[in-house]
Amino acid sequence: MTISVSPYISKVYDAAIARNPGEPEFHQALGEVLESIAPVVAQHPEYAEAGILERLVEPERQVMFRVPWVDDAGRVRVNRGYRVQFNSALGPYKGGLRFHPSVNLSIIKFLGFEQTFKNALTGQGIGGGKGGSDFNPHGTSDGELMRFCQSFMIELTRHIGQYTDVPAGDIGVGTREIGYLFGQYRRLMNRHESGVLTGKGLGWGGANVRTEATGYGVVFFLQEMLAKRGETLEGRTAIVSGSGNVATYAIAKLQQLGAKAITVSDSSGYIVDQAGIDLELLKQVKEVERLRISAYADRRPGAHFVASGRVWEVPGQLAIPAATQNELGSDDAAALIRNGVVAVAEGANMPSTPDAVELLQQAGVLFAPGKAANAGGVAMSALEMSQNAARERWGFEESEARLSGIMSDLHAAAYDASEKYGHPGDYVIGANAAGFVRVAEAMLAQGLI
Ligand code: GLU
Repeated sequence: MTISVSPYISKVYDAAIARNPGEPEFHQALGEVLESIAPVVAQHPEYAEAGILERLVEPERQVMFRVPWVDDAGRVRVNRGYRVQFNSALGPYKGGLRFHPSVNLSIIKFLGFEQTFKNALTGQGIGGGKGGSDFNPHGTSDGELMRFCQSFMIELTRHIGQYTDVPAGDIGVGTREIGYLFGQYRRLMNRHESGVLTGKGLGWGGANVRTEATGYGVVFFLQEMLAKRGETLEGRTAIVSGSGNVATYAIAKLQQLGAKAITVSDSSGYIVDQAGIDLELLKQVKEVERLRISAYADRRPGAHFVASGRVWEVPGQLAIPAATQNELGSDDAAALIRNGVVAVAEGANMPSTPDAVELLQQAGVLFAPGKAANAGGVAMSALEMSQNAARERWGFEESEARLSGIMSDLHAAAYDASEKYGHPGDYVIGANAAGFVRVAEAMLAQGLI
């Protein structure tokens, strides 16, 4: 990918590519962010003088480690663990852990880099980091999962802490995994440090609405974007990909606000259910029985499973990619546009390719990048940390009201920055610029670190 920007930005980009060979996802995230902050950097020569960009693209610390564990058959298994601590200018490193066989250094670095700007955008004093493992939780027993989590935490313990780095969930890591990780941390450190991990269970330090926050937040952001054009969610049909936590609670909030989601997907294919996704059935299939998504169609009259093809070919006015990176390419964007899509809000991190984003924006489709639209998850994590520190627990309604307020502020911050830097309504530029300025100013104030 080439980016057309100032010589300073090009130099930083080229050097970062050369220094991090073979990391396509990280390169993609670097290109997207550096390109969109060009108007900001042009107005702030002091950033170049202080080497802000050169420092921003280099993680503060990267940890890779061996995770040995024993499976149910008594065989030794070895996975690789990661924690990339990207930037702590605004607060302790904060970001999820992803357990998925595709995980590699490139993916963790792209996620940690993106997380830095996302977290800055929330305005909650959290730095950026990400971690995980190439461990595949599918098909492993509960005992195997626990042994893996315990082994993973034996090493991770050295690098985290409520004032240092606060991991949470991401793909393949939910309350169950956080439970095993938290238990092992507590045992190793001999301290009940609630704020060291977020996404905990409600009975042991977790926060109301953390589970729902990412999905709900995406829909709140969509609502804000539509409102800016004098439109609402009412009566709209939504195409949603994925079938995990983000997709589930985006669908729930869409339903509450009068819209209808008609699709979900996993890596084996997608479901079309014109009557609207039945959330109870979805949760039964995915969370309780942990089955493939086709089981949903087997049990739901009128719904069908499509094993090949792309979910983005299904017509709808709203689209929420909530599966994984680069799941929505230019052909998919073209199909969405052909079918009259009005708005796309990213539930996953970087699910749309740069070409797809360009096509959507050129066609006048409202487009919300993940670092703005899905920031509700990490925002609620920061509120979980606040509650842990104060030994409090807020009620569901109060927590949801706070989330809605945060998403509305975040939308305003991204929109205002898009105007300020000459691209009104371009939320990619707006979100990156607003997040970047906060990090850059803190780095400038704190000296050459
Ligand atoms: N994994 C989520 C994200 O991508 C949440 C991170 C967190 O809560 O720390 O933002």
